[in-house]
Amino acid sequence: MVQNTGKLTLYNTLGRETRTFEPLAEGRVGFYGCGPTVYNYAHIGNLRAYVTHDILTRTLRRMGYDVTHVMNITDVGHLSGDNDEGDDKVLKSAEERGKSVLEIADFYTKAFFNDTERMNIERPTVVCKATEHVGEMIDLIKRIEANGYTYLSGGNLYFDVGKFPAYGELSPRNDQKARSRVKEDPNKRNPQDFVLWFTRSKFEDHALAWDSPWGRGYPGWHIECSAMSIRYLGEQFDIHAGGIDHVSIHHTNEIAQSEAATGKRPWVNFWVHNEFLIQDKGKMSKSSGGFITLRSLMDAGYDPLDYRYFLLGGHYRSQLQFSWESLETAKNARRSLMERIRVLGAGSGGRRGSGARGLSEKANAHLAAFNRALEDDLSSPRALAELWGLIRDPDVEAGEALACAVDMDRVLGFGLAGEDRGGDDPEREKEIERLVAERTAAKKVKDYAKADGIRAILNEQGILLEDGPAGTRWHKIQGWTQGR
Ligand code: AMP
Ligand code: ZN
Repeated sequence: MVQNTGKLTLYNTLGRETRTFEPLAEGRVGFYGCGPTVYNYAHIGNLRAYVTHDILTRTLRRMGYDVTHVMNITDVGHLSGDNDEGDDKVLKSAEERGKSVLEIADFYTKAFFNDTERMNIERPTVVCKATEHVGEMIDLIKRIEANGYTYLSGGNLYFDVGKFPAYGELSPRNDQKARSRVKEDPNKRNPQDFVLWFTRSKFEDHALAWDSPWGRGYPGWHIECSAMSIRYLGEQFDIHAGGIDHVSIHHTNEIAQSEAATGKRPWVNFWVHNEFLIQDKGKMSKSSGGFITLRSLMDAGYDPLDYRYFLLGGHYRSQLQFSWESLETAKNARRSLMERIRVLGAGSGGRRGSGARGLSEKANAHLAAFNRALEDDLSSPRALAELWGLIRDPDVEAGEALACAVDMDRVLGFGLAGEDRGGDDPEREKEIERLVAERTAAKKVKDYAKADGIRAILNEQGILLEDGPAGTRWHKIQGWTQGR
């Protein structure tokens, strides 16, 4: 039988090498992924970042880790240039639309989670808004200041990169050069210095302002991620992720602030960055106009999961070119996949291979190859190919193939578990309802042995029962752990 290593190897931007992942605390993973700036709809490039986070957390969970996934919502402080120039994105959007900042932030936060839900992206364990954590940001800045890394200039409090020798270790030299082309702010000692707290600035009329030891004002963008990740994950944690554009400024500055405040290095062990989704014109971005949203895909007749399928066909560290033709290809492939799952469902009479009796060697080999693909720096294209290999293998019995496909889907997230259920097989659904009713009747007459027996039979078939005040509900087990 093929053996899995059971270890995840990840490419770490810090050190630019592929390393075996080891968590700080056994069995647990602290993961922070930079969230959206809520001044507009997410474009499909942004969604690539969140699908990457999703594949990472789902893989870790499937491997048995207890993952705390934290995501911030940037509703203040992100200027149009990452390097402290331009307007506050949310404020500008509010002004243009004649709404309050909070209305805008609320509206686009909801729109964001609608999108992620439609794409089957699991909700993070903690979602935290910048505006609700300004106290934590001020406390962190105070620590940075007490340790001697700041200066006041032109009314703003700056981080002095000259005092932090390890500055920039996340970015290679050419990124650094690109940074130095940024327009000079005369208040800065070094062009790479950045604002921790704005008091006097171009935005005297900033709608959101807080009192602080440095005067009434608002935080810089980078400090929010340091403050909130430390608040929820501690002063050192396992993995931090974001798009590749965050490497040279945002994440570089986050590291400097956090390590300057706590004195602990490294702040984060693994840095994971997804490459861009590109169009003919180049990188898709909110500012370049003409960006495509999930809604545009849906209006053109695509299911959000077609787009998820399209994304998983590329490795997260390779640029991915979006085109309607390749989305069409993904759509057709996903349709065939669903069709195949339905055929397997019918072929097995809705019964999934039994966990108790174990898997055949063949099925096990497919699962092991699938695991290896994901454990090899989250290779979703290979994992997808392994799923296809499994469901097309004539030597794997239908129920077993179905069970393994559903298990693989715990990471792929195409909703395969529901595909062989319900409307497609009303007879089967009736049978489940009948057994559930029989169990309820048995419980009423205190025949617990019979009730437990029925539950065991259903569990064996991949049906989970939940007893609640409104009676017993049932659903298919989302996944199946045999074979790991
Ligand atoms: P934002 O809402 O602009 O802060 O960006 C949200 C996330 O999307 C960040 O992690 C960005 O790095 C990422 N991102 C932005 N543009 C793209 C793109 N074209 N392809 C993939 N990821 C992107
Ligand atoms: Zn961030």
